[in-house]
Amino acid sequence: MNKIPDGTTVELTGTFDGHVHLRQKKTGLLELTLPDLLDEFGGALIMCNTEPPITSIRLGLDYRAEVLSELPAGAEFDALFTYYLTDEAKADEIVEGYRRRIWRACKYMPNNGSTNTARALTRFRNGYPIYERMEEEDIPLLLHAETVGDRIDPFDAPRVFISEEMPELRKRFPKLRVCLEHITDGTAADYMAEAERNNEPTWATLTPQHFVYSRNRIFQRGSVREGTFRRGSNPSFVCWPLLQREEPHRQKLLQQVAGGNNRIGLGTDRAPHDFDKAKACEDGCGGCYPGRLALAIYAMGFEAIGSFEHFQNFACRNIPCGLYRLPPGKKKIRLTKCAARPSTMPEKIGEVVPILHGEKIPWREEAVC
Ligand SMILES: [Zn+2]
Repeated sequence: MNKIPDGTTVELTGTFDGHVHLRQKKTGLLELTLPDLLDEFGGALIMCNTEPPITSIRLGLDYRAEVLSELPAGAEFDALFTYYLTDEAKADEIVEGYRRRIWRACKYMPNNGSTNTARALTRFRNGYPIYERMEEEDIPLLLHAETVGDRIDPFDAPRVFISEEMPELRKRFPKLRVCLEHITDGTAADYMAEAERNNEPTWATLTPQHFVYSRNRIFQRGSVREGTFRRGSNPSFVCWPLLQREEPHRQKLLQQVAGGNNRIGLGTDRAPHDFDKAKACEDGCGGCYPGRLALAIYAMGFEAIGSFEHFQNFACRNIPCGLYRLPPGKKKIRLTKCAARPSTMPEKIGEVVPILHGEKIPWREEAVC
């Protein structure tokens, strides 16, 4: 990880987090999460799996008001919201909410496949009539691209979804804007390589944990060489979809980023949970939290692949300007390599245990304006 000298700086302009879970005031997590997000990003796409989920214009307006009320006065932050697809979704209401900019996209989540998904579509294909209307109205469809079930190995869930659902979706709705959220495996990487080649309107977000770590990190940490190696289960690194094997999966994702695939961009999928009550327990939730060091973790990833020239587009352009067609943002962050005086991820942020808690990250971040 120490490939470039201390003092090297990288500046990003228009940082945008393409995938966040802010939760709600009643959970105590919104007040905790929003300042971390604002520290690093000038805008974000906020997910809809609240309780209850965002399934109507009224709920969308309420949630937007709740989030905006937590923004500090004068904060320049582009908060964009999403709509939660259920079997009862009504196309007319989706279109109206989109035209009124209450939401900017619809989100598919596998039923009972992640946090607050009990009301999600029971079958991906049940949504076809809605996707048809979304294609006509040019509304993006965001996919938690996993097929879950009692016979499906959880590490295979993304491959099953992409190989079984994407060809038919694309055949029926070739112009629909689609985003594969938090891609994790070689199937998604191959799909995105094809999408770029074919100029297909498909994008993908990539989290810091899927970018920098393989699934080893769920079960071990440290290094044998440095005498810090420890084996054990690490719930802070459990998220859906799971981290995958190094070969071929993470390596294939890295190849796409290193090659500057302009359809893959930043989405942290920051998903805070009370660690003791909801994560480090039976049926513990998936969801990783990068605190306010998400960009520093991505910087480690870009340092490892030696492709800093693509960091700006990855973090600031591909998703906000490409997928959502927003003008370029203004938030400026300077990252400085500093192995001698690294950043340290806190052990705890409220009741949330972030990834890499207590560990050093050899990059420092500062807002430039
Ligand atoms: Zn998510």
